[in-house]
Amino acid sequence: MRSRLSTAGAAVAVLVGTVLRGPAGSSRGMRPIAMRFAVAGIVGLGLAAGTPATAAGAAAARPAPVTHAAAPATVPVTAPGIAPDQRATAVTFAAAPAWPLVQQGQQGAQVRTVQYLLNSRGEALVPDGVFGSLTLAAVKRFQSANGLGADGIVGPLTWPVLVVPLAAGASGPAVMALQVQLNRYGAGLAVDGEFGPATAGAVTAFKAEYGLGTGSAVDVTVWQWLVGGIPTVGGYALPLPHGALPRSEYDDPHHDYPAIDLPVPTGTPAYASASGTVQAVNDSSCGTGAVITDANSVRHIFCHFSRRVVAGGARVTAGDLVGYTGATGNVTGPHLHFGIKTGSTNRCPQRFLLALYDGVTPPAPATLPTTGCYYATLHPQPPLLDYLK
Ligand SMILES: [Zn+2]
Repeated sequence: MRSRLSTAGAAVAVLVGTVLRGPAGSSRGMRPIAMRFAVAGIVGLGLAAGTPATAAGAAAARPAPVTHAAAPATVPVTAPGIAPDQRATAVTFAAAPAWPLVQQGQQGAQVRTVQYLLNSRGEALVPDGVFGSLTLAAVKRFQSANGLGADGIVGPLTWPVLVVPLAAGASGPAVMALQVQLNRYGAGLAVDGEFGPATAGAVTAFKAEYGLGTGSAVDVTVWQWLVGGIPTVGGYALPLPHGALPRSEYDDPHHDYPAIDLPVPTGTPAYASASGTVQAVNDSSCGTGAVITDANSVRHIFCHFSRRVVAGGARVTAGDLVGYTGATGNVTGPHLHFGIKTGSTNRCPQRFLLALYDGVTPPAPATLPTTGCYYATLHPQPPLLDYLK
């Protein structure tokens, strides 16, 4: 698990990747390093403040045995023997995941959702999923017009006012926002703004899975479960919050064997990528880590945690919090080392992660390649390889 990732190393990695694969057709191109870390830093700030106002915060406080399937009605909120504080916690997190924080510098499906919802309120943003200055101004206008503090951050106060209750037959940008969210969970809908049978079917299935009742009506609570939840697709989940890194980080090669190093700041929540049984890892290479063995005996490997929150032998469901990222073990900087192993074979996890990022069912781990995702297989003798070891 040796990983020497640092800011300088990441910079070299980007340069090497660009040289080896070229900017044309590359999803990475030449992006400013400062921005990449700024994006990740936003997540870190939210965690550092200890706020429960992010999806990460909700998952962090979620007791391990409680899964997404725990509907409010099934929680024994008045069960004897449970202390009042614990009951309160159970109610809070079984009721709904926390609204996520969406703010300037972020990109992806959550930002696109905000842009469509703002357009449904009269704005004319390009729904590109990039939270820039125009989106910031539009958020502030919306907040001012609705008696909210105009801080430009879409959080627990702004979301409930911004989302639009919807029913079958509706059309327009708010329906596009709904379709973007359902696609995070693998619905595969065309984002056409028409609340037709396909969208209704996806809503009905989502509500059934999360114990939110029947029918296809989308109220504020359904919106909260959609935008606040950790999606699972095909039984798998992205091991990091979607907003923690841009998509382009998920196709980066590893240093010298199939795996990936994901440059997130210490304290970023890490989620189980599959359902399975946890093996606790504590050694000088992986540091504080975890291996989740899934139903097909595939091992999902997590290294360099600052803290692991599940015990060895625990059963986890895909999307459950496993630990917080850090810089333990053999590293030169904080990141999550993530690997997939079938038998004794290390697999390239990049396609698996990119699919989960995109909300589509990932390839089966046993079909993932075993070469092409680390520097030795990309270039026979890269002149900068010494910097990456
Ligand atoms: Zn690594």
